[in-house]
Amino acid sequence: MRIRRELLEYLLDMARNFYPNEFGGFLRERDGVFEEVLIIPKGHFGKSSIFFDTYLLPHDDDIKGTVHSHPGAPLPSKADLNFFSKFGGVHLILGFPFEEWSIKAYRSDGSEEKIEILD
Ligand SMILES: [Zn+2]
Repeated sequence: MRIRRELLEYLLDMARNFYPNEFGGFLRERDGVFEEVLIIPKGHFGKSSIFFDTYLLPHDDDIKGTVHSHPGAPLPSKADLNFFSKFGGVHLILGFPFEEWSIKAYRSDGSEEKIEILD
C-alpha cells in the first residue's frame, strides 16, 4: 500500500492520544495513494476491540481500507482477520508505541503488505 507521510503521522498522533484505548477509521484512496481517514465515532472505541460495523461505513467508493490502533503489538486478532476477510482492501494496525516501525499493513487474507510512505 502507498500512503502519504502526512496522513500516517496524523494517524500515529491519533493512536497516541487515544492510548490505552483503541481508535479506528476508514481510509480513502486517491490515484492509488491513501490520503484521508474517516474516524469512526468515539462511542465505538473500546479497550479491547474496535467495532468495525459496516453500518458505520459511509457510502464512498474511495474507501479502500481501514486503520486501527492496538495498545500492544500490531498483530491482527481473530476478530480483525475475520473483519479483514469480509471487508477486502488493506488494513493498517498501529501498534504501541506508535512509531513508523510499529505499523503493519495486512491484506484481506491476513498476509502482510508492504507499506510505502510517500513524502
Ligand atoms: Zn485489532
